Amino acid sequence: MIEDKPPKPLYIRLHERDNVAIVANSGVLPAGSIFEGGLILRDPVPQGHKVALVDIAKDAAIRRYGEVIGYAERDILKGGWIDESSVRLPQAPAFDTMPLATKVPATQSPLDGYTFEGYRNADGSVGTKNILGISSSVQCVAGTVDYVVRLIKEKLLSQYPNVDDVVALNHAYGCGVAIDAPAAIIPIRTLQNLALNPNFGGEVMVVALGCEKLQAERLLPAGMIPINPEKPPIMRMQDEQFSGFGEMVEAVMAMARQRLETLNRRKRETCLAADLVIGLQCGGSDAFSGVTANPAVGFAADLLVRAGATVMFSEVTEVRDAVQLLTPRAINEDVARALIREMAWYDNYLAAGGADRSANPSPGNKKGGLANVVEKALGSIVKSGTSPIVGVLSPGERATQKGLLFAATPASDFVCGTLQVASGITLQVFTTGRGTPYGLSAVPVIKVSTRSDLAARWHDLIDINAGRIATGESTIEELGWEIFRLILDVASGRKKSWSDRWGLYNALTLFNPAPVT
Ligand code: CA
Repeated sequence: MIEDKPPKPLYIRLHERDNVAIVANSGVLPAGSIFEGGLILRDPVPQGHKVALVDIAKDAAIRRYGEVIGYAERDILKGGWIDESSVRLPQAPAFDTMPLATKVPATQSPLDGYTFEGYRNADGSVGTKNILGISSSVQCVAGTVDYVVRLIKEKLLSQYPNVDDVVALNHAYGCGVAIDAPAAIIPIRTLQNLALNPNFGGEVMVVALGCEKLQAERLLPAGMIPINPEKPPIMRMQDEQFSGFGEMVEAVMAMARQRLETLNRRKRETCLAADLVIGLQCGGSDAFSGVTANPAVGFAADLLVRAGATVMFSEVTEVRDAVQLLTPRAINEDVARALIREMAWYDNYLAAGGADRSANPSPGNKKGGLANVVEKALGSIVKSGTSPIVGVLSPGERATQKGLLFAATPASDFVCGTLQVASGITLQVFTTGRGTPYGLSAVPVIKVSTRSDLAARWHDLIDINAGRIATGESTIEELGWEIFRLILDVASGRKKSWSDRWGLYNALTLFNPAPVT
C-alpha cells in the first residue's frame, strides 16, 4: 500500500506537453514537499489534484494528457495547486471541423485460443448467466412481478439447479407517457431489447395490466423471438378470465414453470472469446481514472477486440469533449458522422432541458481532482483502447457487430447500465475512483478501482485494484491481461464478482427523453 512506503512526494505527468501533473500520494501532500527533480509544492494538495509544473500565466492553456483541459483563470505559480476554480472551461470542439476517419488504426494481430464457458442461444448469441427474465409492460404491475419473483425464488427455483436467478424487468415506463413522441422510441426499444439479452436465453414472458399505453404485444417484436401468435406469453391482470389475484399469480407461475424447464436444460459449453459482448463504464471518476483503471481497461478492450469480441463504450457527456480524438479512429466517414450525430443529439437534448456540459462532473469527481468535463472526458475515452471504432449504436439499440462500438448513453451509471444490457452486453467492466456498490442483476459487473486505498477500504466490493499502476507495482499491460482473464473467469461462472456475491443490483432505469403526460 502507498501508506506503508516512505512518504516520498510523487506526481504523475502523463504527456511531455503537460504543464500540470497530479499528486500520487494518498491523503494531502503538505506545502513545502519537495519532489524528485526539485519542484516545491506551494500549497497543500490532495491526492489526485493538479500541481503546476511551471508558472502558468492568466488565460494560458492548462494541459493534461497532452490536450488543453482549460485556461488559467488567474496567474498560477510553479508548484501551486490548480483547483477547479482556477480552470476556465474551454469551448466544446466544433462538429463541422472534426476529422473523419483520418487516422484509422491498423487492425492488430488476432488473439486466438481464448475461450469461456457460456450458454449458447438459438440466435447464435452466448450468455454468461442463465436467468429467467420477467418483463412488465407498465409500472402498475411492478409489485405483482416482484411478488411472483419472490414466490418463484421461494418455491420453484431450487427445482431448476441450472438456472441462476429470476429477475423482474420492472421500470417506470408504460403509461402516463407520450408514447407516440419521436423520442419514445428509446424507452420502447430498450424494453424490447432488454428481454432479448443473451443471459435470458430467449425465454421471454410479459406481465401486463391491460389498459396501459405500452400494449404488451409491443414488447414482443415480430421476428425477433419465436412466439406463437395464437398464444403469446402475456398475462394481463385485467383479463376477465381471472377471478382474484391468486389466479393471476398462478397464470404467471405456469408460464414461469415452462420457461424454467427449458432454461434448466441449458448447459455451459466452451465458446470462443469472440462470443463475448462486453460493456465498459465508469462511475465516481477521479483524476486517477485516466491514469490507472481506464488505461488498463483500454488494454483489455484491445485484447477483446483482437479475440474477435464485441466491446462497447458509452457515456456521451464524458466523450463529447474529447470526441475530436475519436472521430479520426472511426473505421469510415459514416461511422465518424454517426458519432457526431449522437453527440449533437445530446447537445440539443441538454439545451432543451436548460442544461449544458458543465452539469458534469459531479461534486465527488471534483473532490477527486477532476476540474471539469474536458479533463474527465480525456480520462474516460482511454477505456476505449486503441482499436478502430467500427459502429455506433443509438440508445438501446442491439449490437449486431463484432469489434469496438460506441453505444450512445447518458453517463448516469444505472441508465448507462440499463441501455448497455439492452444493447446485449453479457458482462460489464466498471471503473471507479470514488467507489460505488453498483451492480446489475442481468449481467455480472467487474469493478476496477483507480486507487489502492479505495481497493483496501472496499476490499469486499472492488474486484481489481488498478491503483497498483500508480505505485509502480503493476504495468498497464499486466493489469489489462488480469482484467481480460477475470472477464473469461466471471463469464464462465468460475468466479463471481463482488456485486454478484452480495447480490447488489441497481434498478433498471430507462432513458426516456420524451414527455411524461
Ligand atoms: Ca457512468
